[in-house]
Amino acid sequence: MKLDTRLLHAGRDRDPYTGASSVPIYQCSTFAQRDPEKFGPYDYARSDNPTREALEMAIADLEGGNRGLAFASGMAATSTVLLLFQPGDHLICAEDVYGGTYRVLTTLFRQWKLEVTFVDAADLEKVRRAIRPDTRAIFVETPSNPLLKITDLAGIAALAREHKLLAITDNTFMTPVTQRPLELGFDIVVHSATKFISGHSDVIAGLAAVRGEELGRRLKRLQNCFGAILGPQDSWLTLRGLKTLGARFAAQQATTARMAAWLCGRPEVSRVYYPGLPDHPGHEVHFRQASGAGAVVSFELAGGGDAAKALLRRVELMLMAVSLGGVESILSYPATMSHAAMPRPERLARGITDGLVRLSVGLEAFEDLTADLERGFSKT
Ligand SMILES: *Cc1c(COP(=O)(O)O)cnc(C)c1O
Repeated sequence: MKLDTRLLHAGRDRDPYTGASSVPIYQCSTFAQRDPEKFGPYDYARSDNPTREALEMAIADLEGGNRGLAFASGMAATSTVLLLFQPGDHLICAEDVYGGTYRVLTTLFRQWKLEVTFVDAADLEKVRRAIRPDTRAIFVETPSNPLLKITDLAGIAALAREHKLLAITDNTFMTPVTQRPLELGFDIVVHSATKFISGHSDVIAGLAAVRGEELGRRLKRLQNCFGAILGPQDSWLTLRGLKTLGARFAAQQATTARMAAWLCGRPEVSRVYYPGLPDHPGHEVHFRQASGAGAVVSFELAGGGDAAKALLRRVELMLMAVSLGGVESILSYPATMSHAAMPRPERLARGITDGLVRLSVGLEAFEDLTADLERGFSKT
């Protein structure tokens, strides 16, 4: 079946006991057994819960993996995946990964003696040169945040295979609707389902999809062991989000493409970052591995930090907030939000200037969004 259909019917699309049109919220911690020597499929809800399982089946199917797993947050998914490694192991990580991933690697897992080299993953040669005898995995994210740099997923997967490393990627910005890294040779995909997958800015959730039975079993054991599982209510909300993901993402991408073109024509805007623009340096690689350019566009104000802050204060329709991927447009300011913890010189060296803002485009009418930005650009 096509992906649009699988978004609704993958995994378990109805209650097997009653035929109910949505999988019930199994709000329970334990399951009564009939035989003390032979347990049924469910025993304790940290290990398995039918609502969470329906979501896990769905993400496995959508990403083309052997197993899907649902976690309490995107960071819980990433951190549990990192527990696959041992003290003394070395990882290569894209230098512009999500801030929380950077933080957990440089604080908690550093304390745990996991070594990490951060590299510009858009340059495959730099990744190759960072490989050491003790390297175990490469972790990338494409498009990256907030500059939407593109990493060649098939190239990374080939490097990983050649050196027997795990290839892991955070697919939050693309969702399985437009990019399926397991099909390109990746081993593990993680998601912040908080963003486009749930899509309504009302839940914190994480997902992982794994290629390979054995790796899937290992990660399942870690999920049960560490216990950062997604609860049944939030699993249900995330499943509900999945059903409209195809329609939402198509509409949001279409508006974002128009928005990127509109921004390019504005005198107040000095630079626009969007992989859908033909002059984006990663444009060609991106469209080899993804079917759409996503619904996040970043742009730099010609007036610098003052103009960016004025815009953020003046918009009325868009939420000025962290996060992305909701049905409502969200305007964020990397300098004080996602990249606040990065020292200013380093942030500037990476192109994340004081004049840069990031827009996650929602489902509002294009004209209302541009009117809101025009209001924000005006000098009065
Ligand atoms: C938000 C986000 C995360 C973290 O997800 P949470 O659900 O907030 O824990 C990870 N990766 C990316 C790309 C994100 O945008």
